[in-house]
Amino acid sequence: MSHIIHRSLRHTPPIAVSGSGITIRDNRGNSYIDASGGAAVSSLGHGHPDVTAAMHAQIDRLAYAHTGFFTTEVAEELAARLAYDAPGDLNHVYLVSGGSEAMETALKLARQYFVESGQPQRSVFIARRQSYHGNTLGALALGGNAFRRKHFAPLLMDVRRVSPCYEYRDRLPQQTLGDYTTSLLSELEAEILAAGPENVIGFCAEPVVGATGGAIPPTPGYFKGVRALCDKYGMLFIADEVMCGMGRTGTLYAVEQESVLPDLVALGKGLGAGYQPIGAVLAREQVVQRIRDGSGVFQHGHTYIGHPVAAAAALTVQRIIQRDCLLGAVTVRGAAFKRMLKDAFGQHPHVGDIRGRGLFWALELVKDRDSKEPFPPAARLHAAVKEAAMGRGLMVYPMGGTIDGERGDHVLLAPPFIATEAELAEIVGRLQEALARAL
Ligand code: PLP
Repeated sequence: MSHIIHRSLRHTPPIAVSGSGITIRDNRGNSYIDASGGAAVSSLGHGHPDVTAAMHAQIDRLAYAHTGFFTTEVAEELAARLAYDAPGDLNHVYLVSGGSEAMETALKLARQYFVESGQPQRSVFIARRQSYHGNTLGALALGGNAFRRKHFAPLLMDVRRVSPCYEYRDRLPQQTLGDYTTSLLSELEAEILAAGPENVIGFCAEPVVGATGGAIPPTPGYFKGVRALCDKYGMLFIADEVMCGMGRTGTLYAVEQESVLPDLVALGKGLGAGYQPIGAVLAREQVVQRIRDGSGVFQHGHTYIGHPVAAAAALTVQRIIQRDCLLGAVTVRGAAFKRMLKDAFGQHPHVGDIRGRGLFWALELVKDRDSKEPFPPAARLHAAVKEAAMGRGLMVYPMGGTIDGERGDHVLLAPPFIATEAELAEIVGRLQEALARAL
């Protein structure tokens, strides 16, 4: 019997014992191609010697120093590098231990910014129904994932929600893309006005939706419209790039492709690429300056913020992305991957949509391709797809029914940036077999 409280209390997963390149092996000698990077985490694959060497060196030098006493060279260097590579004046970095912590930090920075600006009445966040921003109570409150919120709803702060930008399901046949986008922005503006703009802290969204929708990119101009509304009403725009950031879509930040500058950006997952638990928040100059000129103290902090070994891992991940031109690789191999997915599943009777960016892709699974009818909730397929894929030595990330149990199932693919075209083809082949078995 396992003493760990696993994700399922009825099932102990296989025991992973080693990993190299795009493969993880278990204690029974099975190997699995990591086609989802876990949950869009392992962007450099497993066992990268440069990252492990940097971690070893840092542990030997200094494993830990509490930030109430010290900063460290490695954390300073990581923050400087993130700030330098980030768009605009996102010059300030707060280092945490994962994505949920990053989102909590962003929410609190945003709130404190307004308190210190003499607008303490601002306490409302607006987010989207199709969203996941983490599992801690603040981040969970923000997200629209009904399944994850269900048991905890009475503990969650009140958040206003608007429609996601989900063209495949929500654009009406007679609507142009432009009209659809305008209708979403009108809905957001109506929600801001209903809350009273003077009460709203900000709007939070994933630039490319990850787990709750499956690699859904925004429509053209959507985030420019969001930015304009935030400016009009003096609100902050918080981009949750925990899953889609750090190169996953072909640019270091997904929002760069929208030519829009958020006020706060949350990072996690690919930041440490799984070598260490690390997340971060990037903040624009004016947000930090207001607090610096006011109380001078951001009222926050955890024991492991700015952890030197985590910073060493993340810094090395950044260096490798640049040294090995991996953003270019994501774009080029992503285009090849897209072709392979379209060839393999473009006519599949149960694949309604194939969408994504870079090496961040999803298949939306439907009962009926023409009507887009989802599979009924009782027949949610994600467990079956995962099992069939694992049985073929393939890790994929299927999810289903995440908005009020109504929307469809999808399979998320986020292979490591180092995957070769032959390995991507192998992923597609194994996924074909898995879907043939599960559907
Ligand atoms: N935000 C997004 C978009 C995510 O996908 C996730 C995790 O899946 C989180 C936040 C929370 O990150 P973590 O699981 O590291 O706490």
